[in-house]
Amino acid sequence: MKLVLKDLTKIYPPRGKGSAGAVVAVDGFDFEIPDGKLVGLLGPSGCGKSTALNLICGLLEPTRGQIFFGDEDVTELPPEKRGVGMVFQHYALYPHLTVLKNILFPLENLRGAEKLSKQEMLKRAYEAAKVVQIENLMDSKPSELSGGQQQRVAIARALVKRPRVLLLDEPLSNLDARLRLQTREEIRRIQRETGITTVFVTHDQEEAMSICDMIVVMQSGRVCQTGHPQKVYEEPNSRFVAEFLGTPPINMFNAEVKDGGLYIGEDRVFNVEGAEEGEVVVGIRPEGFEYDQKGALCCKMNRVERMGRDVSVVFSHAAAISAVLRAIVDADEAPGDDEEIVHFALDKDKVRLFDKESGQRIYCQLR
Ligand code: ADP
Ligand code: MG
Repeated sequence: MKLVLKDLTKIYPPRGKGSAGAVVAVDGFDFEIPDGKLVGLLGPSGCGKSTALNLICGLLEPTRGQIFFGDEDVTELPPEKRGVGMVFQHYALYPHLTVLKNILFPLENLRGAEKLSKQEMLKRAYEAAKVVQIENLMDSKPSELSGGQQQRVAIARALVKRPRVLLLDEPLSNLDARLRLQTREEIRRIQRETGITTVFVTHDQEEAMSICDMIVVMQSGRVCQTGHPQKVYEEPNSRFVAEFLGTPPINMFNAEVKDGGLYIGEDRVFNVEGAEEGEVVVGIRPEGFEYDQKGALCCKMNRVERMGRDVSVVFSHAAAISAVLRAIVDADEAPGDDEEIVHFALDKDKVRLFDKESGQRIYCQLR
């Protein structure tokens, strides 16, 4: 089921005296989520992710705009008629009910033509439990389960009605680091197995990058960029997107375009075509540096961190904006610990220019 959002907008009225006024939480969302894909809605806390998800599932009414599931306009439909499964950060399981009863719950509330026989309900509950691999826990109470298992129950409960769309709001935030890694792979597997179009909300870029077919990067209620995670990482359309994606983060410098060259401080690092003269901001991914004593960028060494195959070189530069500059290089191409000055050659495909004021990407050729 493909999902289409058209000018979807939610404005919260002012909360009352002393509040900052109306909040535009979701501002003109206009994009399509392809059928059967896992899509990550990604952005810092407060950027409007939960609001967007609640609009899609129908718990909130939009101020403006439309939502389509396939060709069907669902904007006016109540949540229970939309065929959505929802999973929240807080699993919200009923503590006094067994796992089985928790999963059955949404089915037991079906009325009229949708009502199922007891046998059919049990069949569906076990089917959903099998997908998330908790069939052996059906008689347990939520309190007897780990956080990861509880979240699986919540996913089974969302799947049991065979939703057209699955919506997950920060489902991993309450799990510890190791479980978070495991459970995100689980979500990927479940999504692949069921083929249900899934929207996955997170503030954690690594989480979204690692499992999603497409990401939607948001800031202050607006969509900044959509696309395949790797593509957005490589071709960010703004400084915000460039800095939001990637661990370790992109390294930022004050720079200048003059005399046909790109200067970082005193260092002329590239010839440049197609960019106006003047001050710019340059971002360089950690993997864009090659240790080369004839390289154009001259830096002051701080330390070398060895982590297995990769070596992380921490350094400084007078024109740096980032507090810490970090290059990732191969172990056999790393500088020695005792060097004070290091030169780097830069990979032009890892170097991006941004407008100093607007932060918008400047598209140009480096040579
Ligand atoms: P996120 O899920 O990305 O953290 P939210 O969608 O929860 O963001 O919130 C987006 C913005 O809307 C925030 O500025 C938040 O304070 C505001 N907001 C959320 N819910 C309400 C509400 N019920 N009334 C007024 N403002 C709200
Ligand atoms: Mg939220």
